Amino acid sequence: MKEGLYIHIPYCRRKCGYCGFTSYPLPAGNVPDELIDLLLQEMRFYEERLGRLDVDTVFIGGGTPSLLAPSQFERLMKGVRQCFDVAEDAEITSEANPDSLSEEVLAAMAESGINRLSMGAQSLDNTLLSLLGRIHDRDGFLRAYERAAAAGFDNINIDLMFGLPMQTYDQWMSTLRETAALGPSHLSLYTIQLEEGTPFYEAYRNGKLDLPAVSLDRQMYHDAAAFLRSQGMEHYEISNFARPGAHCRHNLKYWDMTPFIGIGPSAASYMENRRYQNPADLHAWKECIGSGRLAFDTAAAEGTDDAMEIFCFTSLRTATGLDTQKFKKWFGISLEEAYQKEPPPVDQWIGQGLLRKENTRLILTEKGIDVSNEIMSAFMR
Ligand code: SF4
Repeated sequence: MKEGLYIHIPYCRRKCGYCGFTSYPLPAGNVPDELIDLLLQEMRFYEERLGRLDVDTVFIGGGTPSLLAPSQFERLMKGVRQCFDVAEDAEITSEANPDSLSEEVLAAMAESGINRLSMGAQSLDNTLLSLLGRIHDRDGFLRAYERAAAAGFDNINIDLMFGLPMQTYDQWMSTLRETAALGPSHLSLYTIQLEEGTPFYEAYRNGKLDLPAVSLDRQMYHDAAAFLRSQGMEHYEISNFARPGAHCRHNLKYWDMTPFIGIGPSAASYMENRRYQNPADLHAWKECIGSGRLAFDTAAAEGTDDAMEIFCFTSLRTATGLDTQKFKKWFGISLEEAYQKEPPPVDQWIGQGLLRKENTRLILTEKGIDVSNEIMSAFMR
């Protein structure tokens, strides 16, 4: 089984008001070369420790990876190939912000083997983009998409957000239709998450941020899903839609519990049924790597119980659902045995039409997706 490799670039030009990811404002206009040095050092550590692992997906996320200079992309991907055996047909994704996706950056990405882009558009409405604190506008995104297509990228994901403050149903559906008409191979639709510590969270707590009613949020989601399915896209995970054959192979590894390695601050790894988390704080991570105290050794490893929870949580998000047989094979005990103390009321959910059973799989129904958080939290112990 080939592994996945995730690399985190923890810089953005400016922090968006809702962002809870590990990202820092870009120092003095450029991503410091020191970051690339440390990422390469962390990869070498994995090579020394585990040998040259076979990898068939690489995902450069952030933050804003498209802020890397062309030479930094080249160094980073050269380092990946020196430390890992990257399959010839590997899916190599980079996230990108429209404002930094110049022709030079696109050329450097293509040159270094990146064959999939994930672009954060979020909306095509300038008022909403400015409210979110995004640094691009509608035209900036459309031009960046055109440049990416002209540079030969034909596997492009676009992230869009719905359920935003002041967003109307018509605004949302028009953004969705216009984006789908561009012909991306993949779309990810997210509702806004209010992360503690963000300006959005504070504004919401102080009554200064009005979110659409839950019924409108749900209508936005279900109508968007129905529209994309009518356009031939496969709804293969709660938030994700793809043209046939264009499912994100890297994300499938997360949902399928295939081992993956995470490099960089806040990056998680999953090996031998255990999940490891690098320090999220940039300085703490730098200190670990720079002083030879490797994050893999010092980071807390979560145990099998956590792995079971993650298995249930992530697989319930997918269209193929939670495979109870696979659970047993993976963890050596049945789902019923694992949740003996507080069994999630699976039969009740089936009776309520929230879950359906297909052979050995438990799959969320359309109705169940609306209460997925409650269903998934019953699998958290
Ligand atoms: S671009 Fe993405 S990672 Fe950067 S601040 Fe905005 S939401 Fe966060």
